[in-house]
Amino acid sequence: MQRYSHSGIVPVGGAINTVLAGLAAAVLGGVVYAFLAYWLSWGPVRLLLMLVYSFAVGFAIAAVANRGKIRSPLFNTAIALVCVALGMWVYWGSYDVARNGIAVAPSAWTPAGLVRSGADLFEKGSFTMKRKQKADGWLLVFFWIAEGICVTGIVIAIARIDAERPFCETCQEWTKSEEGLLRLASDGNEPVWQEVLAGDLTALAVFERAFTDTSPQVRLDLARCPKCEHSNFVSLTAITITTDKKGKTKTRQRSLITNGAITDPEAVFLAEFSKQIKGGNEDDIDDEGEDENEVEDEGNDARAT
Ligand SMILES: [Zn+2]
Repeated sequence: MQRYSHSGIVPVGGAINTVLAGLAAAVLGGVVYAFLAYWLSWGPVRLLLMLVYSFAVGFAIAAVANRGKIRSPLFNTAIALVCVALGMWVYWGSYDVARNGIAVAPSAWTPAGLVRSGADLFEKGSFTMKRKQKADGWLLVFFWIAEGICVTGIVIAIARIDAERPFCETCQEWTKSEEGLLRLASDGNEPVWQEVLAGDLTALAVFERAFTDTSPQVRLDLARCPKCEHSNFVSLTAITITTDKKGKTKTRQRSLITNGAITDPEAVFLAEFSKQIKGGNEDDIDDEGEDENEVEDEGNDARAT
């Protein structure tokens, strides 16, 4: 199976909109973040503000890049980095203004102003921690670095969240993916998988149906163009679910193939096989409910790995 790879095309209109949306979110968000961070200076609230800010900037880039049909995750990353740099600069200057009033505004964003503000915070402390103690000195510097790393990482991750989805160049449309079209009782190591990966999808028929909580299982996701029959991509993920002594479930995932290109008859075969394997099963309705839980499990796993 040949793997899908993006064409790397970045439409000019989409690129401009993405840059504008990202910068607007980073700059306006940076001002709001700075003032709220000053007024609500309790550590945990500051952490929450940081998360909201990072998610908002990342999401603005992801959403507009997707609408602008940008087929280059690298472009999203580059815009994310530019937005983080500009946003953090606006945030630092705005924080100085929030703290010392409008009088410092003319110099707040200059290099000298930023150094003055940083040195002042280093000495007097910034946000509060336990027992209203203020974080200052090198501990504060540590938090600044941690904040920078977190904001950068989150903005990039969110900006790229949907950037890998296959795109149909014929119709100029994103494909639509159905996650868990099939779940098969298998650990993904059986020799049959070599046949499947070589393109013989009918070899899948040897496996029994698995459910969302079956372990081990191989999950099959199918992405198809909503308009034509030329773009069909299959992803296979081997999943193991383990429960530890405390009863917490842990999901481990291993990709067998991501977005392998298949033909339309093969995609139809998969859809039919999925119906057939699920057909006549009484707990189909329950299965839908389980699907929602599955998403949460995966979320935990993504964070753990
Ligand atoms: Zn198409």
